[in-house]
Amino acid sequence: MIRIENMCKIYNMGDNSVYALNDVSLHVAEHEFVSIIGPSGSGKSTLMNMLGCLDVPTSGEYYLDGKEVSRLRDNQLAEIRNYKIGFIFQGFNLLKKLTAVENVELPLIYQGIGHRERVRRSTEALEMVGLGDRIHHTPNELSGGQQQRVAIARALVSDPPLILADEPTGNLDTKSGADVMKTLHFLHEKGNTIVLITHDNSVAAQAQRIIKIQDGQIIEDKEAV
Ligand code: ADP
Ligand code: ADP
Repeated sequence: MIRIENMCKIYNMGDNSVYALNDVSLHVAEHEFVSIIGPSGSGKSTLMNMLGCLDVPTSGEYYLDGKEVSRLRDNQLAEIRNYKIGFIFQGFNLLKKLTAVENVELPLIYQGIGHRERVRRSTEALEMVGLGDRIHHTPNELSGGQQQRVAIARALVSDPPLILADEPTGNLDTKSGADVMKTLHFLHEKGNTIVLITHDNSVAAQAQRIIKIQDGQIIEDKEAV
């Protein structure tokens, strides 16, 4: 699913250059549930941006679902993001004026899918995350955990091969965070590939495999116990 080879990302700041990623190689197979953990400044956001095709590396390769994507132009990267990746962010990133089902429809609108089919698939995705009875609620009528589950439904509605979650429980209380993790486990059991980025050990420990990053390098890669 993911094959990153010898990736570097260098930020040039005046006379200084920072290796945000320093020779990172990483393989993630289909159906894995992986967490990437590291302290602040270790390179997690940079790696997330690379994995999510939000930015391109300075050097190295990235094969996503069989396709080399590290040298693509912006419009080609946008295309890859639309079809290959479902994003879940710490801040949910839902549109406040739209209902749950309308938010979940968005990726399908970008793909040019008709209204009736969009509503059918979005309703199904919301049912899958346990929100079948909340589809016409707007974000401010939902709890934080429910909003994040709407975001999860939006990430999975277009059936992307990869789901990328960036601190998905970071804004949530313990119980809502646990609900969101339960939903991610459910998706994993259904066959999704999930990469979760976090600085929280107890969250990372819930994945199958834990990758530790520090100073832009992978320092540990092990099965969860
Ligand atoms: P994390 O997400 O783990 O906190 P980041 O990926 O944000 O880490 O940052 C890794 C390193 O790269 C840090 O030293 C950070 O200061 C640097 N960095 C990140 N983004 C930029 C940028 N746009 N310009 C310059 N330096 C950056
Ligand atoms: P609440 O506000 O009590 O969480 P909901 O009706 O939104 O009310 O959710 C009911 C329960 O559904 C939650 O307690 C949560 O644990 C559970 N839940 C979370 N994820 C899923 C899921 N993927 N499928 C089914 N139920 C889920």
